[in-house]
Amino acid sequence: MNINELITNGESYLMNTYKRLPVTFIEGKGCLLIDSEGNEYLDFLGGIACNNLGHSPAAVVKAIKDQAEKLLHVSNYFWIESQVELGKILVENSFGNKAFFCNSGAEANEGAIKLARKYAFKKYGAHKNEIIAMKGSFHGRTLTTLTATDNEKYKEGYGPLPSGIKFVDFNDIEEIKKVVSQNTCGIIMEPIQGEGGVTPASIEFVKAVKDICVENDILLIFDEIQCGIARTGKLFAYEHFNVEPDIMTLAKALAGGVSIGAIVATDEAALAWQPGDHGTTFGGNPLACAAGVANMNVIIKEKMWEKAAITGEYFEKKLLELVDKFKFIKKVKGKGLMLGLELEIEGGSFVQKAFNQRIIINCTAGNVLRFVPPLIIEEKEIDQLCEVLHGIFMETEGY
Ligand SMILES: *Cc1c(COP(=O)(O)O)cnc(C)c1O
Repeated sequence: MNINELITNGESYLMNTYKRLPVTFIEGKGCLLIDSEGNEYLDFLGGIACNNLGHSPAAVVKAIKDQAEKLLHVSNYFWIESQVELGKILVENSFGNKAFFCNSGAEANEGAIKLARKYAFKKYGAHKNEIIAMKGSFHGRTLTTLTATDNEKYKEGYGPLPSGIKFVDFNDIEEIKKVVSQNTCGIIMEPIQGEGGVTPASIEFVKAVKDICVENDILLIFDEIQCGIARTGKLFAYEHFNVEPDIMTLAKALAGGVSIGAIVATDEAALAWQPGDHGTTFGGNPLACAAGVANMNVIIKEKMWEKAAITGEYFEKKLLELVDKFKFIKKVKGKGLMLGLELEIEGGSFVQKAFNQRIIINCTAGNVLRFVPPLIIEEKEIDQLCEVLHGIFMETEGY
């Protein structure tokens, strides 16, 4: 099917939830995507921060093939070896003691909020049920995670939304002190906000939030769905802050491009769940977990966070050169290979212009060009991107 037929059929048969670029990719290799006409694109989006080892990494592909030939799905009425193995990897390499697997990021956050509520319910009763979330947050599209997401446009028309979620300004210690009460059971935050504009939390803020959580027996939930899995220069972003959460959620890059989600928690928090308290049919299935094990083994063996830190530093330096040249660029944001270029103008048109030159980037929060490439990206590819950005920025009036 050629691209025009595909678009016509797509418009006939699919719900109209996305603005898609007029292209279909038929293959991916490393940081390259190849479209149906044979054109190559350099991918600085990485499937939205999912393809940390690049497209179709060999170890993950092999694990999927081997597992698919043996067993795809059995349900959680039985022990699943790859699920146990992936749980062990996450526990041995993080603050956590126990893992729960699901199928997506929103599901992981939904479960994390449920776990925080159950923990408080068992210890203190039903009144302690409030969750505090941050302005600028994104936690998913299910009703509760949408409620915890700070984006009015995403919420419009979906009421009544679940109650019990309050917002505070990100990085504002005084405000969170005012909003915390004896009814607060959880505080959820991204250590580095993704969709909200690639904004890191400050070290002082994270420390203050942790102190508040300890004092009031509130569970601290870090949503590391976008910033986790070696992207920011540490295996998990919380390692930048010298603070451990009680619960961490993972998804995007956990299984090398296969759909998966995970909740990692301390023993104390995890104990709130007993058989029947939470569950999923496909979560932790043999196929997704085999992909996760293969992916995480490479990430850990190759210390991909070190690569992300080193390449990220180079990338940041190159972006700073653009900041110096163009007065409509405000600043570079982010850490490691989770970087944003904040503009004083709308960024959407640059995505299309970069695409026309076969570079895939993305714009978030309206004016932040976001770069979340595979962690195997090389300096010469970053040079290529920056050259293209330079060219399209030059076309902007009054630069
Ligand atoms: C992508 C994302 C989610 C939602 O994940 P889905 O798999 O799309 O449900 C939640 N939190 C953060 C920080 C994300 O980046």
